[in-house]
Amino acid sequence: MVNPAGVANTDRSAGNNNAPLPVLIVGAGSAGLSLAQGLEKNGIRTMVFEKEACDAPPGRRTWAFVAAWSAPILQTLLPAHLWDRIHTAFSDPSMPVKPLDYIPLTNGATGERLTEVPLSNGHRFFRPRFRQLVSEGLDIRFGKELESLSYRDQSVEAHFADGSSVVGRLLVGADGSRSRVRKQLLGPDLAELDRLPFGSIFVNVKYPREQALLLRKHPLFSAMLHPNGSIAPFFIIDAPDPDHPEDWTFMMYISWAMRDDGEAAAYQGMSKRDLLRTAKELSSVFCEPVRSAFAWVPDDANDVYFSTMAQWDPRPPHRSWNNHGGLVTLIGDAAHPMTHRKDASPRKEDKVSSEKTDRWPTLGLTSGAGLNHAIDDAGNLTRLLSAPEGRSQGQLIDSYELEMRARAGKEVELSELNTRMLHDWSQLIKSPFLTNGFAKPKAVAAAPLARI
Ligand SMILES: Cc1cc2nc3c(=O)[nH]c(=O)nc-3n(C[C@H](O)[C@H](O)[C@H](O)COP(=O)(O)OP(=O)(O)OC[C@H]3O[C@@H](n4cnc5c(N)ncnc54)[C@H](O)[C@@H]3O)c2cc1C
Repeated sequence: MVNPAGVANTDRSAGNNNAPLPVLIVGAGSAGLSLAQGLEKNGIRTMVFEKEACDAPPGRRTWAFVAAWSAPILQTLLPAHLWDRIHTAFSDPSMPVKPLDYIPLTNGATGERLTEVPLSNGHRFFRPRFRQLVSEGLDIRFGKELESLSYRDQSVEAHFADGSSVVGRLLVGADGSRSRVRKQLLGPDLAELDRLPFGSIFVNVKYPREQALLLRKHPLFSAMLHPNGSIAPFFIIDAPDPDHPEDWTFMMYISWAMRDDGEAAAYQGMSKRDLLRTAKELSSVFCEPVRSAFAWVPDDANDVYFSTMAQWDPRPPHRSWNNHGGLVTLIGDAAHPMTHRKDASPRKEDKVSSEKTDRWPTLGLTSGAGLNHAIDDAGNLTRLLSAPEGRSQGQLIDSYELEMRARAGKEVELSELNTRMLHDWSQLIKSPFLTNGFAKPKAVAAAPLARI
């Protein structure tokens, strides 16, 4: 990684006068880094700007995520020497990718297996190791918080909180769900997230060896749905060494429908200790392993977080931003933050298929599909920019945005439906999710990029 923590570039221009201007990418998350790799692989110079002072600031929340249908796209973006080491970024590097796996969904009160969500080609990454690997070889400037943008004839200028600025041929906002770039493009009101009335308490924890081994007898990724409407997914997010269970990090959360904004505000103001006490109370009505997994968390545990769910659908016309003739756009959570939904079933063109997979639901609950779409965005933008076929940059960005809005917007909508259904037991048990299964939504499946 070039230019480590805190080294600020205060140049007003991004290069010498003869070199083509770089693509400026704001945000060193999975979207921004995947895009930077893809563009660099195709000979397009990039600079990534990250507001954090380094790639793993202490005390920041971590999690694991699954790239399923997007894994082959990621492979096209990364240089071969990084893809060869992709397993080093897995939650458990010793576990190979299964062509077809099943995530159990269980009645949280009784332990009865309700169904299993098929997961094809699931690459389960521990986010910090994923970011570390995908950062390799890139020009990343840390401690650079974007504040505002200005436009010239054929270029865009990014202005940072430290007073510096950099000029590029295109600026891509990959700065996450509360995107500053989105706010710059639409204003704070139109860019504001839509809150959903669900709250979750997350806990990340390491256990003593014996407890870790006992918990690992249960599926590594599973979720319990309680008839009272709460849900409790359970994962191992980081198991760097199979022989050292005391170093494994487990993550679980308990999630429920909030009565009103006041309830959410009360949780937001709670201490970690009170949040953990609440999570232990709420989980005490669950069966194993969730009950013990929460009960065994030390009372002074620090990795405890409350979050409400929020989303932003980019499809409504009033949310269409002006891309200034193709000088600026958004990818990943900056463009389409969404709630928990795992798009677990394979796309049509994926090799793996079985009668069970085709019949069974695509809906899941243990996480979101945001990473898959972030990588898809990066793949599409890379393809367009590296093979313009006579089109102007404005036409290329219009083309990218047209496809992205329809695909990811549909996913935002489905994720909300899924979130609501999973927190409503009476609807859930009647739903086709547990009876017939769902077909993969066509609008979410790969669509050719429109030529504009
Ligand atoms: C618990 C959990 C589990 C999940 N599981 C899955 C899963 O299984 N599958 C899936 O597909 N998705 C999953 N997701 C969603 C997935 O993590 C996100 O959709 C994805 O990581 C988004 O990546 P991103 O790069 O767009 O945003 P981020 O990862 O949020 O990165 C944005 C970056 O921009 C930086 N930044 C912000 N503002 C500025 C600024 N003004 N200037 C400079 N830098 C800035 C931030 O510091 C950050 O580094 C999960 C999410 C959570 C929370």
